Amino acid sequence: MTASLLLVWICTAFALELAVGVAVVLVRRRRRLALAAMSVAAPTPANAALAWAGWREFRVVRREFEDAAQTQCSFYLVPVDGVALPDYKPGQYLTFALDVAGSADTAPPRPITRCYSLSDRPDPLRYRITVKRVGPPPLAQSLPPGVASNHLHDRVHEGDVLRVRAPAGRFVIEPDDPTTPVLIAGGIGITPLLAMLNWWLAERPDRPIHLYYGLRHSREQAFRPWLEQQAAAHSHFHLTIACSRPDPGEEPGRDFQHLGRVDVELLQRTLPAGRHRFYVCGPPAMLGSVPPALRGWGVAAGDIRIEAFGPASTDAPEALTPSPAAPESGAASFEVRFARSGRTLAWDGRDASLLAFAERHAVVVDSGCRSGSCGSCETRLIAGRVDYARPPDHEIAPGHCLLCVGTPRSALVLDA
Ligand SMILES: Cc1cc2nc3c(=O)[nH]c(=O)nc-3n(C[C@H](O)[C@H](O)[C@H](O)COP(=O)(O)OP(=O)(O)OC[C@H]3O[C@@H](n4cnc5c(N)ncnc54)[C@H](O)[C@@H]3O)c2cc1C
Repeated sequence: MTASLLLVWICTAFALELAVGVAVVLVRRRRRLALAAMSVAAPTPANAALAWAGWREFRVVRREFEDAAQTQCSFYLVPVDGVALPDYKPGQYLTFALDVAGSADTAPPRPITRCYSLSDRPDPLRYRITVKRVGPPPLAQSLPPGVASNHLHDRVHEGDVLRVRAPAGRFVIEPDDPTTPVLIAGGIGITPLLAMLNWWLAERPDRPIHLYYGLRHSREQAFRPWLEQQAAAHSHFHLTIACSRPDPGEEPGRDFQHLGRVDVELLQRTLPAGRHRFYVCGPPAMLGSVPPALRGWGVAAGDIRIEAFGPASTDAPEALTPSPAAPESGAASFEVRFARSGRTLAWDGRDASLLAFAERHAVVVDSGCRSGSCGSCETRLIAGRVDYARPPDHEIAPGHCLLCVGTPRSALVLDA
C-alpha cells in the first residue's frame, strides 16, 4: 500500500514537473514568435553601428499622447534589422519618407519627406519622436490640414514600419561647455530641447540648466508630469512655464510661472549673472523676436543657437548679421534655366530661395522640410553657383544644390 502510494506520488510529481516544463517552453516560444512577427530583434550593443546611409526600416512599438489636448503624440521606434542604434547628439532630428494616402480613395499613396526631432536622450535600443498634429492656418481654415503630421496621428499605428534616414542636424547641445545652457522652447519646439535636457540631467547632474517653455495655455504643455518630476528631483534644473493665454481656472504658480510670452525681460529678470548659451526652438514669432532681443542685450551671436521647424531658419543669428557676400546674391539679377522643364526665367532677388522662385513660376520640383535639412529638393547643378546664407544641415552631393535654402550667385542651369 505504502509502496503504491509512493509510486503514485512520484508519478504525480513527475507529471507536474513535465507540465511546468512544457508550459515554460510554450510561453517562451510564444514570446519568440510574437517578437518574430513584429520583426523586432533586441538590438545588441556589441553590434552598435555607425550612422547608416539612405533609408532604414523602423517599427513603431509604442504610441503615447504627451499633452492633455492630445495633439502631440510620441512614437517609439525600433530598428527592424535589430542592429543597435548609433549614438546621436541631443538636438538632432530624423528624416522620414512617408507614403501618404492620395486625396481620393482610389489615388495611389504619394511619398513625402518630413523631419522630426529626436525627443529623448540617446538610447541604443530605440528612438523617440513627438509629432504635433498640424491644422489649417488660423486665418485660412478652408486649406487642408498638415499632410504628414495628420498621417502619422491617424494612420500610423503600433506595429507599422516607417522608412527613416540617420540622425542629422547641427542644433546640438555642447557636451563640454563651461557656460550654462538656457533652453527656450515655443510649443512643439520643445522636442529637441527635451533631448538636450534629458541628456544634461543624466550626464551633468551637478551643473545648472534652465528651460523656458512658452505656450498659450497649459493644456498645450507636453511632458508635464515628467518635467515637474525632474524639476522636483534636480535642484540645478530651473523650469519656467510661460502661458500667454491661460484657460480660465489655470493658476500662476501651479500651472505656469510667467503670464505672457518668453521674452528678454523675463530672461533678464530670472537668469543669474554669468555667461549662458541660448538654444531656441519655436514658432516663427519666437524665432523672429527672441534671438534679435538677445543680441540687443549683448549676447554674442555664437552663444545663440536656433532651430526652425520650417523656412524660418533664415532668421538664424548669422543671417541677422549680414556677411559680405549676402547682398550680392539678393540684389543681382540672373538668368535661371530649368533644363528639364524647358523654362528660362529671370531671378530678380524677390524670392527667399530657388524653391520659392520655382514654385512661383509653376516649375514642379520636389520639396520636404524647406529648411535645408531633408535633401528632398537636392537638384543637379548643370552650370553656375548657388549661395547659402548658412551651411545647410543636409550634406549636398558634389555637383548638386539645395533649392529650398539656395539663391543664385551667377546665372544657373538646373536639372529640373
Ligand atoms: C529639423 C526639423 C525638425 C522638426 N521636428 C519636429 C518635431 O519634433 N515635431 C513636430 O511636430 N514637427 C517637427 N518638425 C516639423 C515637421 O517636419 C513638419 O513640418 C510638420 O509636421 C508639418 O508637416 P505637415 O506635413 O503635417 O504639414 P504641411 O502639409 O506641410 O502643412 C503645413 C501647413 O500649411 C498649411 N497649408 C496647406 N496647404 C496650404 C496652401 N496651399 N497654402 C498655405 N498653407 C497651406 C496646412 O494647413 C498646415 O497648416 C520639424 C521640422 C524640421 C525642419
